[in-house]
Amino acid sequence: MRHISPISDPDDTIVAPATAEGGALCVIRICGADAVGIADSMFRGRRPLREAATHTLHYGRIVDADGRTIDDVVVAMMLAPHSYTGDDTIEISAHGSRYIVSEIIRLAIAAGARMASPGEFTARAFLAGRLDLSQAEAVADTIAADSQWSLAIASTQMRGGYSELLAGLRTRLLHLTSLLELELDFSEEDVVFADRKQLREILDEVQRQTRSLIDSFALGNALKNGVAVAIAGRPNVGKSTLLNRLCGDDRAMVSDIAGTTRDTVEAETRIDGVLFRFIDTAGLRNTDDRLERMGIERTHEAIDKAHIVLHLTTPDHDDEHIDAAADRRVIKVLNKIDLLREDAQQNSYSAAEPHAASETCPVADSWNDATAAAGSNDGIVRISAKCGDGIDELRRRLRATVDTDRLSEGSVTVSNMRHYEALRRADEALSRAVTALDDNLPTELLSEEIRDILRPLGEITGEITSDDILASIFSKFCIGK
Ligand code: GDP
Repeated sequence: MRHISPISDPDDTIVAPATAEGGALCVIRICGADAVGIADSMFRGRRPLREAATHTLHYGRIVDADGRTIDDVVVAMMLAPHSYTGDDTIEISAHGSRYIVSEIIRLAIAAGARMASPGEFTARAFLAGRLDLSQAEAVADTIAADSQWSLAIASTQMRGGYSELLAGLRTRLLHLTSLLELELDFSEEDVVFADRKQLREILDEVQRQTRSLIDSFALGNALKNGVAVAIAGRPNVGKSTLLNRLCGDDRAMVSDIAGTTRDTVEAETRIDGVLFRFIDTAGLRNTDDRLERMGIERTHEAIDKAHIVLHLTTPDHDDEHIDAAADRRVIKVLNKIDLLREDAQQNSYSAAEPHAASETCPVADSWNDATAAAGSNDGIVRISAKCGDGIDELRRRLRATVDTDRLSEGSVTVSNMRHYEALRRADEALSRAVTALDDNLPTELLSEEIRDILRPLGEITGEITSDDILASIFSKFCIGK
């Protein structure tokens, strides 16, 4: 099969369904110089589309070569340059039958169109200068957005907030390079056009903004891909029970035999619009069992990768440490507090209500509230994974680790790994430029360092890019976008 790059053949007229299968209606998009002629070859309305004005809707029928009606449709017409791609664009809203859609596409291809490759419409919009690359990527993120927050990030990026910020940084740096170039042109005369103090101020400001974008990636990535939470602790502390309690299913195997969870088990849940991915890990303990040891190794890997570690202990074992997680965001969780309650009852010094034989034991919430009210900030969340107590508090604590307030204010948040890596490279180049400036290095070298900052920033918006990068970005889009 011939591979068609989304950035090739800009003169072809392309066709693809723009909506997912299975709906009542389907939109088929035809885009390119021959779009109107191709649509007219199958459309029968009150008058031919070529006589119609741009941005108008037309009711009619789609007919095949024998004049047989395929469907009743509404056609939207958007002529160049005022369309998504900048080309003439026809959107046919037909009934969502797989047969109707394939017939309309077959007719369009017979009339001269070719099937669009993934992302080709958006690639054309990018090449026509209607979107920059970061905005084009945000189109895909908008389609994939599965929560209020991932949508907020994508739409700020799509509307150009991010592009403006980056363009601002690039303009300031370009101003610097032009002054430095001027110095180089007059190098014989030993003149200084770029005031070094002002130069340093600009570099500092650009670095401050670049670092702020880099820092936002932790949040952006967590909101886009989910917050990874490792549930760790000794065998039998109730890790699997907690995972099932949080995610509401029985994905993790629960048993009394220590070492049951030999590998990592994952399950997801949403808390107030944020996706959390829980990883139930093999219990941490010394063991000779080879399989279990492999599971424990994977546990350490999971802990290293996790954004948050829930460190589970029980009332009888509360002195454990997770060394690997020392620098991580650990939430200490004391499980099985229903047992404490039972002990207390047996010793009959409990001030709490007698424990009913039911599955609920509301003791955990009152303890969590009581410790908070008493100003105790031992940070430990007390729960009973088995009975469900304290789980609401634990969910609140988890959700509080994700600060979505800044998104409500519309601030730019980086969620794309490609952008993050480019920003990291820009930051490194910025540090080198600052050193070059402080060490009074020759103008030529300084100018070169500043170009090294501009390059990765330009890669984000697509000012500087290669066909390979573009092809790899757009090939991840869905067909019809
Ligand atoms: P893991 O090895 O850490 O994954 O522990 P499991 O989730 O398999 O639980 C081990 C045992 O502890 C099972 O019998 C659970 O029913 C029990 N268990 C878990 N959570 C609680 C709890 O909150 N209270 C009590 N009483 N038992 C619990």
